[in-house]
Amino acid sequence: MNAPLPSDALSRLKALLGPGGWSDDPSVLAPHLSEWRGRWAGTTPLMVLPRTVEEVSAVVSICAETGTPITPQGGNTGLVGGQTPQGEVLLSTGRLRAVRDVDAADDAMVVEAGVTLLEAQQAAEAKGRLFPLSLAAEGTATIGGNISTNAGGVAVLRYGMMRDLVLGLEAVLPNGEILRGLKRLRKDNTGYDLKHLLIGAEGTLGVITAASLKLFPLMRSRATAVVAVEDPGRAVELLMRAKAETGGGVDAFEIMNRVGTGMVLRNIPGTRDPFPGQDHPWTVLIELASGEPGAAGAAMERLLAQALEAGLVLDAAVAQNEQQKRDFWRVREDQSAGQKVEGAGWKHDISAPVSQVPAMLAEATAAVERFHPGVRVAAFGHLGDGNIHYDVIMPAGADAKAFSARREEGSRIVHDIVARHEGSISAEHGLGRAKTAEALRYKSPVEVEAMRAIRKALDPGRIMNPGVLF
Ligand SMILES: Cc1cc2nc3c(=O)[nH]c(=O)nc-3n(C[C@H](O)[C@H](O)[C@H](O)COP(=O)(O)OP(=O)(O)OC[C@H]3O[C@@H](n4cnc5c(N)ncnc54)[C@H](O)[C@@H]3O)c2cc1C
Repeated sequence: MNAPLPSDALSRLKALLGPGGWSDDPSVLAPHLSEWRGRWAGTTPLMVLPRTVEEVSAVVSICAETGTPITPQGGNTGLVGGQTPQGEVLLSTGRLRAVRDVDAADDAMVVEAGVTLLEAQQAAEAKGRLFPLSLAAEGTATIGGNISTNAGGVAVLRYGMMRDLVLGLEAVLPNGEILRGLKRLRKDNTGYDLKHLLIGAEGTLGVITAASLKLFPLMRSRATAVVAVEDPGRAVELLMRAKAETGGGVDAFEIMNRVGTGMVLRNIPGTRDPFPGQDHPWTVLIELASGEPGAAGAAMERLLAQALEAGLVLDAAVAQNEQQKRDFWRVREDQSAGQKVEGAGWKHDISAPVSQVPAMLAEATAAVERFHPGVRVAAFGHLGDGNIHYDVIMPAGADAKAFSARREEGSRIVHDIVARHEGSISAEHGLGRAKTAEALRYKSPVEVEAMRAIRKALDPGRIMNPGVLF
């Protein structure tokens, strides 16, 4: 997508939004054109920053009329390149920043697309409510981006993905029309539920401008522990016990292998090993929460005592204070940052039914080690959801460029194993520019054709994020 855009469209957009509403200054654009992993570099002739849904509608109308393509962008924390324009107009939600309403009685809040996830959590908490979506990039990632990628994170086990947390949407469709759907209803069976088309659409079916989100009660007790286990199979057994012991009170169940944890401890200053000098092969971070004061701590004690007695765990440490809890979480949240320093990697965001994860991991590791001897597999993530970030890091001291050149072939090996376990090659990050072609190998033609038909019906000119999805 590199053909020059119609210049009259660009001048109409500038006139519409006025000073402060657009930029073509390279120094302003620069941070919007590179991304966290440094894998995608973008170009754009113009960034627009509409302030209201009406302005977004006017922008999209001009683009639809002139055949001008658009890439929406929120916090620019996406990991598959979907927010990085390749010549399109960049539509930033950076000025759609209002928390419109937080209603404790309806257990709902309405926030605009450019509000960060952290700000949304804080707005809910200020009214005594919980907005449970949580992920390491929450200080920058936006609600619009979370919805467009159907984000997951560390509390999916209990509360579900972003799709499960959206009650209604306000969005601008690719023809410029406004879909006003900010309902707060739990029940509404009145035909196709259009919000679900936009959730996870990665900016291809319109621009989300605001959302009505589900809120939950704040928990009254929480307990966090790190547990060492021999292998992922034992971690799955521990998960089953944790669910049974708490009656659904497991907020997070995150697994990490020693390779990845070693990289964090080596490369990220200030991180602490929960089991110094032990080198346990796998650790699991467990967080239990309860509406009853003290109940989470008591449940954790019972769980760990049982698990130790059954020989399921090698070692366990329960956080005694907030600082220790933060230290435990930091080792988990800095897994990707820890790897960065070690050189190039083939990254995978894979999932399978929880019971199949141990076999899937064992097969994938044996296969990539055969394919490229010396690779270092850093596997971590949301075992409770069957979702593992399975990163194959180049051998120490290898040539990064040569290793990256083998990514496609190496990833194909991993993805074929995932498919044999009835899994997904993109569990929570989406397809973006990075994985769309690969996904075509695993999706059925019926699914792909239905998706293409929906897109064509809503966006016949394919102006919305044209390089993303099918
Ligand atoms: C350190 C780190 C940890 C992460 N951890 C997780 C995790 O645990 N779970 C997880 O799911 N993800 C995770 N991510 C990925 C990322 O944070 C999520 O995908 C997030 O939802 C993206 O939000 P964003 O606002 O940054 O979106 P962007 O990166 O700006 O955009 C992402 C996609 O959404 C589209 N988009 C953005 N806003 C809109 C809008 N208003 N309307 C229409 N389309 C829009 C873009 O075009 C693009 O396709 C992580 C990322 C980092 C860097």
